[in-house]
Amino acid sequence: MSIARNCKHAGMLMLTVALTACTYMPDTRQTRNVVLLIGDGMDAHQITIARNYLVGPTGRLALDDLPGRADVGVVTLDEQTPGVFRYVPDSANTATALATGTATSRGRVATAPRTDVDLPTIVELAAAAGYRTGVISTAEVTDATPASFVAHIAGRWCKTPRDMGRNPLCANDRVEAGGPGSIARQLAGSDLDLLLGGGREDFGEGDGSPRALAETAGFTVLTTAADLAAAPPANRWLGLFTEGNFAPRMVGEDGRTAEQVGEGGAFPAPMTCVDNPGASGQPGMLEMTRSAVARLTQDPGRGFFLMVESALIDKASHVRNPCSSIAEVAQLDEALRFLVNFADGHGETLIIVTADHTQAAQLVPNTSLYQNLGDPVHTPGRIARIQMPDGTLMGVNYATNSYFVEEHTGAHVPLHTNRPEVLAGFLTQSDVYGVMRRFLGL
Ligand SMILES: [Zn+2]
Repeated sequence: MSIARNCKHAGMLMLTVALTACTYMPDTRQTRNVVLLIGDGMDAHQITIARNYLVGPTGRLALDDLPGRADVGVVTLDEQTPGVFRYVPDSANTATALATGTATSRGRVATAPRTDVDLPTIVELAAAAGYRTGVISTAEVTDATPASFVAHIAGRWCKTPRDMGRNPLCANDRVEAGGPGSIARQLAGSDLDLLLGGGREDFGEGDGSPRALAETAGFTVLTTAADLAAAPPANRWLGLFTEGNFAPRMVGEDGRTAEQVGEGGAFPAPMTCVDNPGASGQPGMLEMTRSAVARLTQDPGRGFFLMVESALIDKASHVRNPCSSIAEVAQLDEALRFLVNFADGHGETLIIVTADHTQAAQLVPNTSLYQNLGDPVHTPGRIARIQMPDGTLMGVNYATNSYFVEEHTGAHVPLHTNRPEVLAGFLTQSDVYGVMRRFLGL
């Protein structure tokens, strides 16, 4: 029961009590659930680009209708030098902060800089306290964001048994060295009730493979959307729906991405976003989320923690593909709409939507406003001039570097929630972890 209800239902009597009585107090009599949705790289530019395309500047995403908002600072430590910060994060150190409440250095998966000490995650704490737990991603489930909620390893690229043998960063965690093994192996040995996403190739086949270990540990492996729809409700689920990452639902026509301005200042032709046939057959984020909530709420009185990652906002932005980022924000928004309806009927459900870090895409004029001055002004980066549903053009620019992939950027990230009394203002990703932990009474 929220603070608003506590105060409202208490009536006039409450007015005689000190105002502090109306600060947020968890009602431990009710089942409590937390859903953390992470849009990987979903900064204000990505949300605005997607809103403009999907519903227009005056339309509203489900995200926009959540009553609570905050800004979240991103803290990244240097691996070598205590007290030294870095200003642009990766998905491993940011997911680690959200999952464990502890800042770390880039590339680390729920481990501390230098000491390599394992940091307990909210999934582990929730499972130990009797909550159901689930993790969903449109990336490989071994990718940094989902991994940081479940596994502990010095390097995010220690994903498979094969990686363990060839990457020196993985040395301490090798099974032969007495360690817990690769990320895939750790996921297979986890207490999760469900883990849904891509990355089938990372789990291998046959004796001793992470896939075999998962099956021995009681996971039912699901590989198609039909498997998910028919998944045995009493079993634990390991959904490996694609070999690698999911395919984006939308792409640029003819595989186009943002392009450089040509000789003589010729801007790229407008680009149309089209459905990607490669995405058919894989379950959508809405389907996975809906199935997960049904699975996690089987036992009355037992709450859950669920992390859902919309991973391709980031991956598409790295390769300057705005259509795919838009489609991935749309997927997150569909899942969110379902979750908001669920929360309406389950009063102690906290929904938090946030990003791990900001990304390269910038919403810019589709041709420079300064061109009118007579100079051939254009971006030094790459631009996509997206053909909008209403016939206009929207410019999306990428210019973090001259390489074949763009980089993350380092601004604070947005946060949206259905429970404004639980969190607001400016906080760090570690603070968000604290809010979730307190909400679950852990
Ligand atoms: Zn990234």
